[in-house]
Amino acid sequence: MAAYADVIIDITAPTLDRTFQYEVPAELAARAVIGAPVAVPFGNGKAPRRGYIVGLSDELKVDAQKLRPIANIPDRDLSIEDSLVDLARQIRERYGGSLYDALRVVIPSRQKVQSVPKRIVKRAVTADELAAAAQKLTARETAKARLYKALAETEEIPYELVTGKLKLTKDALAKAEKEGILTIETVENDARTPGEGLTVTLNDEQVAAAEAVLAAPPESVFVLHGITGSGKTEVYLRVIGDIVAQGKQVIVLIPEIALTYQTVMRFYRCFGDKVAFVHSKMSAGDRYRMRERARAGEISIMIGPRSALFTPFPNLGMLIVDEEHETSYRSESTPRYHAVTVAVMRAKMCGAKVILGSATPSTETYFKCESGEYRLLTLSKRAKEGAALPKAEIVDLREEIAAHNYSVISRRLRAAITDRLAKKEQVMLFLNRRGYAGFVSCRACGETATCPHCDVSLTYHNDGTLRCHYCGYRRAYEKTCPSCGSKFYLPFGRSGTQKIEELVAKEFPTARVLRMDADTTKAAEDYEAILTEFAEGRGDILIGTQMIVKGHDFPKVTLVGALAADLSLGVPEYNSAERTFDLLAQAAGRAGRDRIPGEVIIQTYRPDHYAVQAAATADYRAFYDTEIAFRRSCGYPPVRHLLTIVGADRREAVLESAMDDLAAVVKAAVAADGAVVIGPSPALLRKKKDLFYRVLYVKHGDVGVCVRAKDAAEGWMHGERGVGLTFDVD
Ligand code: ADP
Ligand code: ZN
Ligand code: ZN
Repeated sequence: MAAYADVIIDITAPTLDRTFQYEVPAELAARAVIGAPVAVPFGNGKAPRRGYIVGLSDELKVDAQKLRPIANIPDRDLSIEDSLVDLARQIRERYGGSLYDALRVVIPSRQKVQSVPKRIVKRAVTADELAAAAQKLTARETAKARLYKALAETEEIPYELVTGKLKLTKDALAKAEKEGILTIETVENDARTPGEGLTVTLNDEQVAAAEAVLAAPPESVFVLHGITGSGKTEVYLRVIGDIVAQGKQVIVLIPEIALTYQTVMRFYRCFGDKVAFVHSKMSAGDRYRMRERARAGEISIMIGPRSALFTPFPNLGMLIVDEEHETSYRSESTPRYHAVTVAVMRAKMCGAKVILGSATPSTETYFKCESGEYRLLTLSKRAKEGAALPKAEIVDLREEIAAHNYSVISRRLRAAITDRLAKKEQVMLFLNRRGYAGFVSCRACGETATCPHCDVSLTYHNDGTLRCHYCGYRRAYEKTCPSCGSKFYLPFGRSGTQKIEELVAKEFPTARVLRMDADTTKAAEDYEAILTEFAEGRGDILIGTQMIVKGHDFPKVTLVGALAADLSLGVPEYNSAERTFDLLAQAAGRAGRDRIPGEVIIQTYRPDHYAVQAAATADYRAFYDTEIAFRRSCGYPPVRHLLTIVGADRREAVLESAMDDLAAVVKAAVAADGAVVIGPSPALLRKKKDLFYRVLYVKHGDVGVCVRAKDAAEGWMHGERGVGLTFDVD
């Protein structure tokens, strides 16, 4: 029982570093936990102020004369603020870091909010006249064209959506108003624009899924497994409509990259003003205003990336995580929380239900369906009539080399591209590299250097060794392929999309080629601009990284080529097969979204690999069964939990000895539980920006043991020589 508590009075203050120490009265000691809401005397004010405990200690840090006791710690009856603080506490417990870090994630600092009048853009002409006006636009006026199209379908649209997602400048709007095409009107805040509800009739599978969710008790977690285009979004819309009708609110997480104009308009058309969108490009002030509107009950549905999870809805009924397997749901900064895990945490706190939707559920998620923790719902076919899954074909690149074709485009793919260009259909070519160089593979036979103990790829280090960054295994880099003796046994470089663009342009000189990767999409607008260009048929071939395979509807795409499926298989991480399967399956999902049947060609050196095979046959279950057997045999998540502790310091020797000490501390804490402690060994990136990195792994079947190992490490860190530690659970 700690004698004193550090209390933070105002959690929305722009800086959180000011705490005040209070005495913990004996009768409240049992309730004095980190994160607990408290009432404390403050300043000269008579009325106690509201605060939260963020630290506990036995050390008096203020003048004893000035110390005052906590007035009260209410028994748990949580307001929305309290429950978000409680969520921050749970996040900190699970993922490490300080409560401040976690609070900042959950409760952003207060911002100046201007009260902006609510405005709408309304069409002033008929839909037909608008269509005629759209005809007269030049090819470059894409934003305007989208606005006209949107206004033709929906009579009025909130001004914010028009200037935000539709990317129209205020000048362009003013001009269109002058031309008499539209009017901009200010409306009362409570003047709701109702949506039209669902426009499609759900099929039997969709109805069954929606009804199962609606009938389930609170806190139920569902996995909606449906191939791309199977109508998952329609199921969400149906369920959301019902929950909102019950007077509850809904949070929908969508990866930022998939939150396109099409998606936004789909929700807007259904729910009108009840729905709001947040995204990372929004100003902090605008995001704060959105939160306040949610708190005030002005909106019922919040849609956005990860951060939308913390919308302060007072009566949250449902959380939906679309594309739940997406890696963007994991936070890259402390606390490194995962949105799926935290969505389930939040649902448990407020009795909400959860839907996790995906065409390729993460192995972690599907594992929980198998164990009965989550309930599985399946949509097995494409919803649109006539749309079928594309045919997939695997091309063995070793045979190309044997036939002296050294191009990145196989003979089969070249023929297919030629055919589509002649038919004026569109082609997507994608390179699933993940910006990572260093694994070694044989260009002649496809042999990759893997660790004999871990079955992950070895990484080439500049000192001429190949190393496993999971177990520390190393061996010398031999310059010829151990399997076929070829001299082309080389570390993979960054053979980028740019090179491929040049090559494609040379091989298909008449084709209009577009390229989308990190270089061509520095700004979010570029990203949408390229997609729009392609969607509107102003390109024949779109080349890109995995960005191009995410959730877009291109009805004219009838051929998708995965240029080198092995690239992502070679990434030295235990889940590289899963990532590869996801990418290939999603890429396949891009083809044949409409009535013209599509075709997928997967080029690979490893045609027999289960991730490649399962993606080609669109057989999720086959993939999962093999993958889970692999995870089981190696003790990787989700079969066992994996805590990763990364230490960083400028002084390599200090770091090494500190991490050795840390390993001893962690072993002492959890070895008796049977936890396996691996390392410390150099991290994948041993040195970055003059900082050295070392990593320690703790594996155990019970996540509680991993959390305990993390707690022990955190406790040790406080007394330590400034070595920075970050934690990552699974
Ligand atoms: P997913 O979210 O699973 O990729 P969507 O919900 O976006 O699938 O549906 C894919 C396409 O099929 C959309 O154009 C949608 O309007 C259409 N669609 C969905 N359900 C039905 C249905 N029951 N009847 C007709 N079309 C449907
Ligand atoms: Zn070889
Ligand atoms: Zn290894």
